[in-house]
Amino acid sequence: GHWHSKLKFIILESDKGYVRSWLEWRTQLSHGEYGGLEAAQENAKRLEAEITELKEIASRDGLTGLFNRKALNDKLSELIDVSVESDSPLSLLMFDIDHFKSFNDSFGHVIGDEVIKRVSNTMQKVAREHDFPARYGGEEFTMLLPNTPIDKAIEIAREVHEGVEKLTLVRRVSKEALPKVTISLGAAMLRSDDNSESLICRADKALYQAKETGRNRIVSEMILWEGMVLVK
Ligand code: GH3
Ligand code: MG
Ligand code: MG
Repeated sequence: GHWHSKLKFIILESDKGYVRSWLEWRTQLSHGEYGGLEAAQENAKRLEAEITELKEIASRDGLTGLFNRKALNDKLSELIDVSVESDSPLSLLMFDIDHFKSFNDSFGHVIGDEVIKRVSNTMQKVAREHDFPARYGGEEFTMLLPNTPIDKAIEIAREVHEGVEKLTLVRRVSKEALPKVTISLGAAMLRSDDNSESLICRADKALYQAKETGRNRIVSEMILWEGMVLVK
């Protein structure tokens, strides 16, 4: 038969308490007591909170909890705009773990992952409120330093470098001490003709210099001197 006659049947056969509360709800709804706008607003609020939470999860790297590459790209463009508009300095650090391939080859990827987590942790501890520590990829990391000139950026780089230097890595089962892990760092500061790529590229060049000249050090690109300067 027709769907509405079926519906009537179901309602008549169903629990009377349910039918009563349904009728009450319909009455209250038509009187505007609840439901309607209020319920819709509450729903919207809940959805908004869920979206915020999902966005937060999507912006993080699974292994380290640092911001991921996508979040880094978004934040960097945003911070470049802010820096230009407010005429405030913006610096960027690139780090890379030294000889990490051979570390992995000797001790395996599980311990390698632990090292990546410990290095990330060190970064997170050093990061100030508005700094933006991210995993650029693999064993490479970036930290965005808003409102920070290059000399302050080098100080932050030193703190991360020293923090990693102080890490002690011991194998859980055998208590065997693992070799010291070191990182190399490159620092650059935003120029007026920069975009995201060119800024990252110059920090990367500085990092490359740090690697080339022996690793376990910081190299900064000094804007006025138009050259690389070995800092540590
Ligand atoms: P360099 O000092 O020049 O940086 O030498 P390197 O061996 O660190 O450089 P390379 O880029 O050749 O190797 C990076 C290695 O990092 C390769 C890969 O085995 C390791 N790696 C990248 N991502 C991960 C990861 O998520 N977990 C682990 N355990 N290892 C990773
Ligand atoms: Mg690398
Ligand atoms: Mg490396």
